[in-house]
Amino acid sequence: MTIHSAQFRQLAKNFGGEITPEYWKDWRWQIRHTIRDLATVEHLLGISLEKSEREAMERTIEKFPMAVTPYYLSLIQTGDYRHDPIFLQAIPQPPELMIEPHDRSDPLSEDLDSPAPCITHRYPDRVLFLISNTCAMYCRHCTRKRKVGDADSIPRKDEILEGIQYIRDHPAIRDVLLSGGDPFMLPDDFLDWILGELRSIPHVEVIRIGTRVPVVLPYRVTGELVGMLRKHHPIWINVQFNHPRELTSAAVQALDRLADAGIPLGNQSVLLAGVNDCPWVMKSLVQRLVKHRVRPYYLYQCDLSEGLSHFRTPVAKGIEIMENLIGHTSGFAVPTYVIDAPGGGGKIPVMPTYIVSWSVHKVVLRNYEGVISTYHEPDGYDRITCDGNCSECRLQLPNIDADESRLVGIARLLADYDETTSLIPGDTERLERRNG
Ligand SMILES: *Cc1c(COP(=O)(O)O)cnc(C)c1O
Repeated sequence: MTIHSAQFRQLAKNFGGEITPEYWKDWRWQIRHTIRDLATVEHLLGISLEKSEREAMERTIEKFPMAVTPYYLSLIQTGDYRHDPIFLQAIPQPPELMIEPHDRSDPLSEDLDSPAPCITHRYPDRVLFLISNTCAMYCRHCTRKRKVGDADSIPRKDEILEGIQYIRDHPAIRDVLLSGGDPFMLPDDFLDWILGELRSIPHVEVIRIGTRVPVVLPYRVTGELVGMLRKHHPIWINVQFNHPRELTSAAVQALDRLADAGIPLGNQSVLLAGVNDCPWVMKSLVQRLVKHRVRPYYLYQCDLSEGLSHFRTPVAKGIEIMENLIGHTSGFAVPTYVIDAPGGGGKIPVMPTYIVSWSVHKVVLRNYEGVISTYHEPDGYDRITCDGNCSECRLQLPNIDADESRLVGIARLLADYDETTSLIPGDTERLERRNG
């Protein structure tokens, strides 16, 4: 059998002759053999932790439980396991217990922006729908660490129905993002039922699934699962590869199956200190992803969730990585670097600056090599003043519902037909004085 590493042979031996290729590739076997304690980690990897280290790690597990699939564990290279990117993402670390002053249990205020069970409705036309609270692996950098392993927050069928009803009742929702937990931890027929319900809602145009299963349990991506998914097109899937070593032949096979079923694949990486906070690691990751038909979508700045402080890098590191990607490699290999703003502000894109200066006639730009160029603005552009009345516009648009085009934020300040000239925070002393 050709399974990825020499470590695997060691692991198989340590499992005690129980593993055959058939078992190993059976995702149910993998789940049944999920590793939840340090003694098993030590035994399977053939390593021994120092006593004080083990005790500190045990305390971490009491607060934030561990779960690792044998498959993902087998990717750890034991020689220098303390710096191994797989080990760091999978095995509890004592610094997880260090809560820093700026840490929050729900930094993105997902619970606050939740109008119905399992739903976070933050943006006008799309919702996050948390339909599963279990994962094949508990990532140490999970932004929803507050819920991991918490049996009480596993969504019940009636809660999911309430979520579906909310989506049905809100025609502005055209994109539903299924996440969790991991939606692929649900049984095929249950997921099939949810997808069918969503598909029966006329205004739901796109369904997205966010999953880490292709990374940590690729064997779950079976022919049956994929056959079920393709009945519900258009389906988009976002995965989360954080390091090139995660792109094993098994993972690539799972990606191939999904892509062959016509599912566009995106990748959402998290920038993690000690794992991928390096331009070369990221460049190698994004290039390998596109080679396997996965489009790098987002690179996330690590959230301010409790227990993640040791994974956080300065924003500067993310910008440095973007500087090393933009222009240096294929445009479609470059993700958008985002900070998910604490307090529910949503994802905010961040990148180096390319506009150097501007005059009425010219824009001065710099490229990735440091070349500074000018772009001459058009002289003859017809500066039509838009009155927001599309029926009289020479551009041909399908009918637009006035409600749909409600102006928000800076776009509102830019519009010709809106009188708003400033956006002002509501809680300044100046306003309080005005209102007496
Ligand atoms: C990330 C996210 C989305 C989807 O955002 P996109 O930028 O469209 O990928 C939707 N809702 C919530 C609450 C999110 O966090």
